[in-house]
Amino acid sequence: MWQRPVGSWEEATDLPAPLRAQLGDAFPLARLTCDAAQRSSDGTEKFLWKLADGEAIESVLIPEKTRRTLCISSQVGCALGCVFCATGRMGFRRNLSAGEIAGQVREAMRRDPAAQPTNVVFMGMGEPLLNWDAVDTALTILNHPDGLGIGARHITVSTVGILPHLARLAQRPEQFRLAVSLHAPTAELRRELMPIEKKYSLPEVLQALTQFRRRVTLEYVLIGGKNDALAQADELAKLARPLGALVNLLPLHPGGAPDLTPSDRPRMLAFERRLKSHGVEAVLRRSRGLDISAACGQLRVELEARRKVRPEEHARVE
Ligand code: SF4
Repeated sequence: MWQRPVGSWEEATDLPAPLRAQLGDAFPLARLTCDAAQRSSDGTEKFLWKLADGEAIESVLIPEKTRRTLCISSQVGCALGCVFCATGRMGFRRNLSAGEIAGQVREAMRRDPAAQPTNVVFMGMGEPLLNWDAVDTALTILNHPDGLGIGARHITVSTVGILPHLARLAQRPEQFRLAVSLHAPTAELRRELMPIEKKYSLPEVLQALTQFRRRVTLEYVLIGGKNDALAQADELAKLARPLGALVNLLPLHPGGAPDLTPSDRPRMLAFERRLKSHGVEAVLRRSRGLDISAACGQLRVELEARRKVRPEEHARVE
């Protein structure tokens, strides 16, 4: 299923035919069907997968040198409503099963066996730690030698900081990487951008991170005039330094949030420099897939809008 991912048991021709038939009856292979795929001029590829119940989720494959990172979804939609996120505006629909989560990697491999993902990040639709049981199992499938065999250090769980499940992730013996969506250096501003701040506050999340025995990445989307001032870089450095955290600075994806504007490049570079001047390791990421709808949730939102306008049209953009 995972190492030589067949599309149906019938294709598993190294098994005797009666066994294939029995397997087909007892364990029908759950498939995700590709409803749309877009490839950016920078090589980024985005997939919209249709699930058995008609729901749709997204994954994005980001090639960079020898690395191919697949960004996968853990829920259909998301309940957390971060203001800069297209998925948040969609609301929550349902949790994905472990098979549907790991299945995104399986289906990407099936489309192009040569482009097997080397890295997996839980940064697509949904908050992975609000679907902990399925994510817990999916992590095992992704990492286990009998599963996809992807090294734990190549698998990153990105979360806003759901405290009870953060502790459970920390208890797993494998060295899975953790990224925490911070996006603001103060609880006050974070509350404005991320409603979850009311439930799990910045000081509590930072306190929990001190218990995490591995290096943590702090994610910070730079939003023009909101969180990109140099004084805010100073504040952020005060949080990141004691943790020894890496700060990932992400340009706001245009179109991900209609009311917000990305910081301009000089401001982003100045913010990065300021963090580094405090001894904080910071990396300004490039925005990938700008000519496709590569921000999480964007492709589904756009296709649904198009289908509403022209329901007769089959909106396949492959
Ligand atoms: S950024 Fe993540 S947690 Fe926030 S609304 Fe979007 S999917 Fe949910």
